Amino acid sequence: MFRSRFRILFLTSILLTVFGLSIPELLYENNGRSNAIGSYGNGRLKNAYLIPFRGNNFKYFSPLSYYILNCGYLHSSVYNTILDAYRTCETTCPYYQFRIMECSRPKGGKMLIHRTHQNGMSADFMIPKMKDNKSNYMLDRLGMWHYLLQFDSNGHSSFIPSIDLDFETMARHLLALDDAAKKNGLFIRKVILKIELIDNLFATRSGQELKRRGIYFAQHLPGFINTVHDEHYHVDFDFL
Ligand SMILES: [Zn+2]
Repeated sequence: MFRSRFRILFLTSILLTVFGLSIPELLYENNGRSNAIGSYGNGRLKNAYLIPFRGNNFKYFSPLSYYILNCGYLHSSVYNTILDAYRTCETTCPYYQFRIMECSRPKGGKMLIHRTHQNGMSADFMIPKMKDNKSNYMLDRLGMWHYLLQFDSNGHSSFIPSIDLDFETMARHLLALDDAAKKNGLFIRKVILKIELIDNLFATRSGQELKRRGIYFAQHLPGFINTVHDEHYHVDFDFL
């Protein structure tokens, strides 16, 4: 009796704590214009915008990251760029449901796991996946654990070898981001993707257009940074 009461009390207090911690995101309103201060690796963000947890063709990848760790905030221009790009993808990739990963904290600054993401001008995007040439979402529901997935140099999953990275869809999303950035007074300063995967991306039809546009992909990365960018791509935006 005492035990079950304690259990109910314990669970209720956890639920109340989780709800309490989620209130800022549940009530947040985006207004005016943001201000990015400092650099990607040592900066702050004023008047941040919160990306919606889900849209027509995208979803934030982790409730823990969004509601508890508060990592879904961006500069207003980056926010508009990302949403415009997803709208374009409704036409260019109507078959695909995208996932956006970590952005910045409400006031920018240091974040768990990431060295940058400090001034609201960076975002991580989950690499689309496929199985037998059809979109596949089996590995997309791992939340924060997704960062630990590994793919080989040809984009095959080490965990489930029949699942491959979908480079054509990734390239279409990056082209949409590039177009939307210009529309919002920005450009893509840098994309970080595991070096060994870049040729696979450029080999696709849309990847050739990415290459032609000269969008910059980091060419030298410290070993660990290179290794972890095999299941997501990091994009830094900057003002035109
Ligand atoms: Zn990142």
